[in-house]
Amino acid sequence: MALNNSSLVWFRKGLRIHDNPALEHARKDSKHLYPVFVLDPHYLQPDPIAFSPGSSRAGLNRIKFFLESLVDLDSNLQKLGSKLLVFKGEPVQVLIRLLKQWDVKKLCFEFDTEPYYQSLDKIIKDYASSAGIEVFSPVSHTLFNPADIIQKNAGRPPLTYQSFLKLAGTPSPPLTSTSSFLPPVGVTGDYEILNVPTIEELGYGDISQEEFTPFKGGESEALKRLRESLNDKEWVASFEKPKGDPSAFLKPATTVLSPYLKFGCLSSRYFYQCVQDVYKNVKKHTSPPVSLNGQLLWRDFYYTVSYGTPNFDQMKDNKICKQIPWDDNDELLIAWREARTGYPWIDAIMVQLRQWGWMHHLARHSVACFLTRGDLFVHWEKGRDVFDRLLIDSDWAINNGNWMWLSCSSFFYQYNRIYSPISFGKKYDPNGAYIRHFLPVLKDMPKEYIYEPWTAPISVQSKAKCLIGRDYPKPVVDHAFASKDCKRKMGEAYELNRRMNGLVREEDLKGLR
Ligand code: FAD
Repeated sequence: MALNNSSLVWFRKGLRIHDNPALEHARKDSKHLYPVFVLDPHYLQPDPIAFSPGSSRAGLNRIKFFLESLVDLDSNLQKLGSKLLVFKGEPVQVLIRLLKQWDVKKLCFEFDTEPYYQSLDKIIKDYASSAGIEVFSPVSHTLFNPADIIQKNAGRPPLTYQSFLKLAGTPSPPLTSTSSFLPPVGVTGDYEILNVPTIEELGYGDISQEEFTPFKGGESEALKRLRESLNDKEWVASFEKPKGDPSAFLKPATTVLSPYLKFGCLSSRYFYQCVQDVYKNVKKHTSPPVSLNGQLLWRDFYYTVSYGTPNFDQMKDNKICKQIPWDDNDELLIAWREARTGYPWIDAIMVQLRQWGWMHHLARHSVACFLTRGDLFVHWEKGRDVFDRLLIDSDWAINNGNWMWLSCSSFFYQYNRIYSPISFGKKYDPNGAYIRHFLPVLKDMPKEYIYEPWTAPISVQSKAKCLIGRDYPKPVVDHAFASKDCKRKMGEAYELNRRMNGLVREEDLKGLR
């Protein structure tokens, strides 16, 4: 068959070669292949008034991780005889221009459930159909197609993990055939094609003082990290979450593969299959929801619910979210965000968030509970925004879902179970090594006081060179009192929600009469 067509593969997430059906389909029967990435100013434009360096959408840590992922993708494409063509501008406008100029007959890109991409994709698909361009947009960011699961459940997303599992079945396997070469890039005309920019080239100025995450972006790193994690078969077989030490930072207790899954440097289907292969070679292993593959299923669970729930990322007009009259207290929010709550366990986690862009799941539990229903009674959307900016694994479906969970707004409703900002961390790390690392101001505080330094006698504080109220803040609230007050407010809000739901049902019935 004569190969005379040009294809364009549009990378957004899915920054990988392995298990990439969009790339595979674009390659097939094409004379030329244009692998394109469009740098979106909404995502990358420096924002001088944001609370931390970065753009309005992302902190510098994630931008750096993302650029490293693009560099690695380009290098892997070059090994296959191709290269990444990088452009800058409004993605839809750039793409339509390129499709016209290059006379593209086939456009391939990964399906994305996020509202932002859903709206972009609709415009692009409409254009392609009017121009007679074939569009291939496969689901490959998740184990399952969320739309299939919602359809199996009579059009509604399953709202519990167990009901999700029953509907989901077995994930489809990753693609096994990977190309050993790709069709060459065709003539590109007079467009300015960029190299992947550095952070400085994006206009972020002098970054020499910045402290960056120890995790490096890219598919190569992702596959290396996956191999290293799965080498220890016993560890994989006995993986059990939420067991595991949230304070372990020299060797984290979980895989730290989330940033790679977020950008699609790692295929979740490939990850899942590799874990299954380990399971086949051990006598026994843990099962969902606690097992390692169970974690990937949690990921798919949130993707499915988010895809089928209008306004999933807000409390208002979100049918699965309890309406709670959160306090509007920016002073407390900022103390939490800036690691100044006076609770060393909470503040150390918030410092890890800022410096590393990643924390253990239970550390995320601790600070999310503290901000919302545990102590400060601040709106979960405000905490979500801080995570959204600072996490390198920030993920629209998972982040919103977990914030609703932790604030007892959805999925989990036992608001009387509150994480203590003192005893929870102490259970794992009685000497406070984690706190000493991320809050060096407390490094000489004796272990008896490290979780409650305000209780240390002044002589002890002086000796530790850390006077509470001067070198490190006093607690912003009294946990014993604040947590009791939060429980009362949650109880009242739940009661109101119950009555409102009753009224809504009554109104529905009236309408039927
Ligand atoms: P592992 O335990 O090694 O798990 C493997 C993979 O399974 C993870 O990489 C992740 O993709 C998935 N996974 C694990 N736990 C969960 C979970 N509870 N829900 C959904 N998927 C899960 N995770 C994100 O990827 N992005 C976020 O923006 C995010 N925001 C969160 C916000 C809050 C308030 C909380 C409590 C949790 C959040 N999580 C988020 C979930 C979880 O904490 C991280 O996925 C996990 O800690 C990542 O570390 P890991 O890769 O070592 O996980």
